[in-house]
Amino acid sequence: HAPAHFRALLEMSRFHGDKVFLTYEDEHITYEEHFRRAATLARRLVEEYGVAKGDRVAIAMRNYPEWVVSFSAALAAGAIAVPLNAWWTRPELEFGLSNSGSKVLIADGERAALLAGAGPALIVTRGEVPEGARSFQDVLGEVAADVTLPEVELSPDDPATIFYTSGTTGVPKGALGSHRNVGQSPLTVAYSLLRAVVRAGKDPGESAGQRRVTLLTVPLFHVTGCFAVMTTTMFSGGGLVLMYKWDPGKALELIEREKITGISGVPTNVWQLLSHPDLEKYDISSLNSLGYGGAPAPPKLLERIGEKLPSRAPTNGYGMTETTALAINNAGADYAAKPDSIGLPVAVVDVKIADPLGEELPVGEVGELCMRGPNVIMGYWNRPEATAETFVGGWLHTGDLARIDEDGFVYIVDRAKDMVIRGGENVYCAEVEAALFEHPAIDDAAVIGIPHDELGEEVGAVVRLKAPATPEELQEFLRGRIAPFKVPVTFWIREAELPRNPGGKILKTHLRKEVLGA
Ligand code: ATP
Ligand code: MG
Repeated sequence: HAPAHFRALLEMSRFHGDKVFLTYEDEHITYEEHFRRAATLARRLVEEYGVAKGDRVAIAMRNYPEWVVSFSAALAAGAIAVPLNAWWTRPELEFGLSNSGSKVLIADGERAALLAGAGPALIVTRGEVPEGARSFQDVLGEVAADVTLPEVELSPDDPATIFYTSGTTGVPKGALGSHRNVGQSPLTVAYSLLRAVVRAGKDPGESAGQRRVTLLTVPLFHVTGCFAVMTTTMFSGGGLVLMYKWDPGKALELIEREKITGISGVPTNVWQLLSHPDLEKYDISSLNSLGYGGAPAPPKLLERIGEKLPSRAPTNGYGMTETTALAINNAGADYAAKPDSIGLPVAVVDVKIADPLGEELPVGEVGELCMRGPNVIMGYWNRPEATAETFVGGWLHTGDLARIDEDGFVYIVDRAKDMVIRGGENVYCAEVEAALFEHPAIDDAAVIGIPHDELGEEVGAVVRLKAPATPEELQEFLRGRIAPFKVPVTFWIREAELPRNPGGKILKTHLRKEVLGA
């Protein structure tokens, strides 16, 4: 019968044996130990908690080794893993639990304290165990050396995961991924790495030899952390160093101590790392691979990398929760030549630019980016309307406006929901923001649409300054760079940081509410 992809990946990872898989503070867990713990927990879920194929098992914790064990166990048991955002408050976590209808919740002490009595059977690690719950250690009990995965009939098309989208444009949607999606996730990354080597005219065989140790800079509860980094590491037999949460100073320390060879997170991670006052104090010479993605990269990031780490060619990857992380990427000389592009689709992904009716547009025209392939999820959990809107005729409609050039390189223009339509004229917020960032006084900026009786919408900007500047000066500056109709008519100057989600994206729905009250 057909292989259930994640189980195959987990079983294969056992061959890496006593190589260290997960490092957290001074804890080191080998591949063999991880396999045994995951298989044991999978058996306990089935035997003691009655978890059956398709049941949901929620995970709410920081980046602890137990996160990876719980995720592996849930999938190996045939359940659907539901990673919940560890930044969420109690009502948000409750939304995740009820939306997914989870039967079991595996949480760290902090989340368990928030969620005691919330419904599902509770298993707790690293913290106090509330009444009625059990500790992770207790559930695991004795881990036998000859443990095997529980028997369960799984096909690659069975659901495996529900990851919540970042909630940048509205209420987070539960993205339902299959075992095929999970199983192929390391392959898209492997393909993109290989392509970068080949396109640089090098022999992929020659570049092997060094063990990869990756620092996880992003949460495991988003697809970048789980798939672009964790399953990919598991597949390759590399090491993964975990942090309780992202902290650039701590990251520098870990890069030196653990001889980290690569990081792959969101652009903000790299920016903060390279802006850290102690950067020069650490030996980070082991770091040879620098990847980021999942959010637009600030225009000055590439420049900053060139200044601070001139020998490391960075990679920009584009992906969504709905594409099981990486789908399109730009690396090496390609990235240097076309820094505005997110690059080329990986081999398994079909891409087209479509008009509002879904018809393919010619080269160079801006339309909605659509994708199809084994990385595209099955749909949204319990959201039939959103599913019907987004998955049309086998194509995922990304909600991102993009164009493709004559060489096949993709350029993200803006999110469709971010575009301001001013008197029938499209204004791409991303373009106005990029122009604003060229002004030396701008620390951060977000462009939004303001309802307008005559024009439908007008352009507004919320900015945070690092030096004094008046709205008039900013408008004058912009007029030299973009067409007059794109220049914001209203500026809100904000002292606090702009609200962002863990992926580093500005929460414009929050901002709009704040400044417009709507
Ligand atoms: P929601 O769907 O809940 O509104 P979200 O779209 O931010 O939230 P994610 O799935 O985490 O949730 O993010 C995917 C989006 O991130 C893409 O649709 C795109 O807009 C943006 N993105 C991802 N990678 C890149 C990149 N390399 N460059 C620019 N934008 C990117
Ligand atoms: Mg989205």
